[in-house]
This record gives sequence, C-alpha cells and structure tokens, in this order.
Amino acid sequence: MKRILQDLSRAELEELVARAGEKKFRAGQIFLGLMQGKKISELNIPSALRETLLKTFEEEPVRIAETFVSQEDGTKKYLFRLSDGNLIEGVLMRYKYGNTQCVSTQVGCRMGCKFCASTLGGRVRDLTAGEILCQILAVNRSEGGTMKDRAVTNVVLMGSGEPFDNYENVVKFLRNLTAEEGLNMSARNISLSTCGLVPEMKKFAAEGIPLNLTVSLHAVTDEERARTMPIANRYKISEILGACSDYFEKTGRRYIFEYTLISGENADVAHALALAKLLKGRPCHVNLIRLNAVRERDLKAAEERDARKFLETLEAQGISATLRRSMGADIGGACGQLRARYVSKNSSEEKPPAATGR
Ligand code: SAH
Repeated sequence: MKRILQDLSRAELEELVARAGEKKFRAGQIFLGLMQGKKISELNIPSALRETLLKTFEEEPVRIAETFVSQEDGTKKYLFRLSDGNLIEGVLMRYKYGNTQCVSTQVGCRMGCKFCASTLGGRVRDLTAGEILCQILAVNRSEGGTMKDRAVTNVVLMGSGEPFDNYENVVKFLRNLTAEEGLNMSARNISLSTCGLVPEMKKFAAEGIPLNLTVSLHAVTDEERARTMPIANRYKISEILGACSDYFEKTGRRYIFEYTLISGENADVAHALALAKLLKGRPCHVNLIRLNAVRERDLKAAEERDARKFLETLEAQGISATLRRSMGADIGGACGQLRARYVSKNSSEEKPPAATGR
C-alpha cells in the first residue's frame, strides 16, 4: 500500500519538499490543494514534483463508493472505500446552524458495546490521520462550495471506532483539521465521543485541543453499564467522572454525556433520578437518544413517551439535557449499520438500505 499524503502536517510537507529539492513554498501549495479536496494529479505544482508524489502516495485514499439520501430529513449517508478495499461509513446531517459530518476513526471497533453495529465484526484496523481527514475532504468536494464556505462546518468523531483506541492518529487528524493554513476548523465545532478510556481522556486534556468531549455513559451504575458496555469492567464511572473534571479544569469546556435509551435496561424514571444524582452540580450536558435498534442485537428502543419522561425528570432535577432526534433512520443512520449490511450482503443477497442513491 502506498503512503497517504494527507497524513502529513504542513511542517512534514515542508521536509518532504525540501528532500525532493523543491522550494519551501511548494509545501504550502500542496497543503492548500489537499485541503481543497484535490487529488495529487490535480495539484497545481510542477509536473516533476507531482510525478514524484504519485509514485509514493495514494492518489485518492478515500473514495465515496455510495451516497444515500434520507427522504425524511435530507441526511446523507456515505459509504467510503479505502485504498486497501476496506469500507467505512460517514453521515452528513443538516442542522439550522450548519452541516455536521460524522467520521469514522477505525474500520470496525473492538469495544464490544452490545447495542452498536460497528463492533459486530470486531476491529479490522485503525484509520490513519489522513484517512480520517479525507472523509471530510471527500464530502466537501462532492458538496461543492468554496474554501471559505465549506459544506462541512462541524465534525463529530462518532462514526465507527473508538477514537481513543487510535489516539495518535486521531490527535494528528485533529491538528490538521484545525490548522490555520488549512480548513481552520475551530475546536468548538468538533466533538469527540469516547466510551470512556480514562488514561487517554486524561492525556487528551493536556493536548490543547479544546473540543467538545463527549462520553458514552448509557448507565448509572458500573454493574448495569457492564451489561451493555464491556469497557465498564476496566474503568469505573467514578474514574470517568474524574477524568471529565480534569478535562474541564484544563480546557474550561463543559463535557457531554451520551445516554442511549434502551427499553427495560436504562430508561426508567428511577434511572433518570439516579443519573441526575450522579451528575448534579457538574458542568455537563446530557444528550439522550432512543436506541436505533440494530437488527443483529436483541435490544429495543425506549418508547418516545418514556424518553420524554426521562428528559423531563432530568430537567426537573436541574440537569441540562436534550432528547435528540434520531436522524436518517431510513438509511441505516446508526453507527456501523450501513457497513454491516454491505459486508453481510456479500454472503446473503440482501438489498442495501431502502433509500435512493444519488
Ligand atoms: N466509540 C465512541 C464513538 C462512536 S459511537 C463511543 O463509544 O462514544 C457514537 C455514539 O453512538 C456513542 O454514544 C454510542 O454509544 C452511540 N450508539 C452506538 N450504537 C447506537 C445505536 N444503535 N443507537 C443509539 N446510539 C448508538
């Protein structure tokens, strides 16, 4: 497999260009061109340099293989193909304030959460920093727009994979995404979701990237959490809360908890009261979402009215919370659902999601 040029930082590009005997400003041209979503062959640089790059680096590390558009809310779901043939997925959601792209950080995942489709086949491999970035570059390119006015205004690391299980690549990706001379995305427009890898959460607090740290909690006690999230056997909720406090101290950013409402599991009023007790007085927000039921798993979404009751209970206890709409349900919007269907399609003649391609 060739290397990936979008893995390199601006400074690393300068070294590369210098080694090739070219002038330093070429690095800036390459970096800018890549951030505009150009392929190597389209870069506006001397042809000899282009040829040299093409010998070593992938022309298009991440290709959009398929696009599905939700008829319900305009959400777009992408199936991306990597150079080695692996498939990953991403989503572009339209909100009033802009467009949020959800990116994957690994092919598959090894965290084993019972409600999640990404983990069905385990972890295949980590994505490189450039492969994560190229998901955004590919969507920006396919949606059009200018360098100043890009389609993707917000990014969430909530696709397949556990970002902190691929720590170095994810941090490098974040540095390139926020680089002033590139897409210059503000850390405030970026959210990273983790199942709660405590040592990496602590390490990340010191990286100086004040993004929205989101933790998948989904339970109020360690015992209940371990029923759906194996990682709960490794780190306690109290340790996670400690790492969150650390993050707030270092960055001044409040943190967010994801809480997926699963019928008969974590969605009773008693759970809401226990959650409020756990989080009372903390600079945090709770995102509730009803389970997007995964075919392969035996778990059911909480009823809409129970979800609203849960939200009201939290709010009455003074906890800041929102009940999120589940977007793109008709196109396999939940993590890993699309890829899982595609991978299984090869063995059973199942059709892809019932939504229109583009
Ligand atoms: N590995 C990271 C990020 C990926 S998942 C993490 O665990 O946070 C992004 C969010 O979607 C997590 O909160 C995850 O628990 C949740 N999620 C996964 N599958 C889901 C499903 N089927 N329905 C609702 N939420 C789901």
